[in-house]
Amino acid sequence: MVEKCETSINGQTIIYTVKRSLRAKHVRLEVRRQTGLTVVVPHSYKIGQLPRLLQSKERWISSHLARCSHFQSLSAEKELSSGDTVPYLGQDLELVKQENHRGVGSVTLDGNTLAVSPGLFKNGILELALEQWYRTAAAKLINERADELSSQMGINYKRIVIRGQKTRWGSCSHKKNLSFNWKLIMAPEPVIDYVIIHELTHLKEMNHSKRFWELVAQYCPRWREYKKWLKQHEADLTAKLCA
Ligand SMILES: [Zn+2]
Repeated sequence: MVEKCETSINGQTIIYTVKRSLRAKHVRLEVRRQTGLTVVVPHSYKIGQLPRLLQSKERWISSHLARCSHFQSLSAEKELSSGDTVPYLGQDLELVKQENHRGVGSVTLDGNTLAVSPGLFKNGILELALEQWYRTAAAKLINERADELSSQMGINYKRIVIRGQKTRWGSCSHKKNLSFNWKLIMAPEPVIDYVIIHELTHLKEMNHSKRFWELVAQYCPRWREYKKWLKQHEADLTAKLCA
């Protein structure tokens, strides 16, 4: 049996998962990057006792959660609201509540702001609407850039699919289809180009050999820097708009 609960730890609301286990003799806490805090309790344990127990383990929990920044996305009350910022092409866009001619449910880019119709600020649908907007923006930009880069590189691909993979930025198949994570649109453009060049190069070199990186470097001399950027921002980017 699995159940989602919430508690407050150091003033932050945390959502955690409670699992009842027939085999567990004691309460056990686990913190993982993908799932956040999980509390495994013996089958007959009274859930009402948990808040006190968690308070007493506050320190342990905070320090472990701090190591998984992805966890931020799992904390409740973290719903986006007007004035918050979201990352886009390496910059921050401010969310602004605004009626606009495109009507209910619309999200429109306007300079450094993202104008969102007021109705979307209710019931947690904003994240969904934003994801939709990001996916569309990602598909457009990535298709354009892949077109351009593939002709520069003289490497053809068949089709581009935009996905929401948890752990990868891009991939390619033997059928010469490329797939990219929509969250890439949050990264600066040179980083997006690097990921596209990386996948296109795989259509020639299906490995990460020295030769592979030499080919990448021909079209993206600063690939090391971009690779590092992705690594450093991975948790951040995937935590935003958790999907
Ligand atoms: Zn690769």
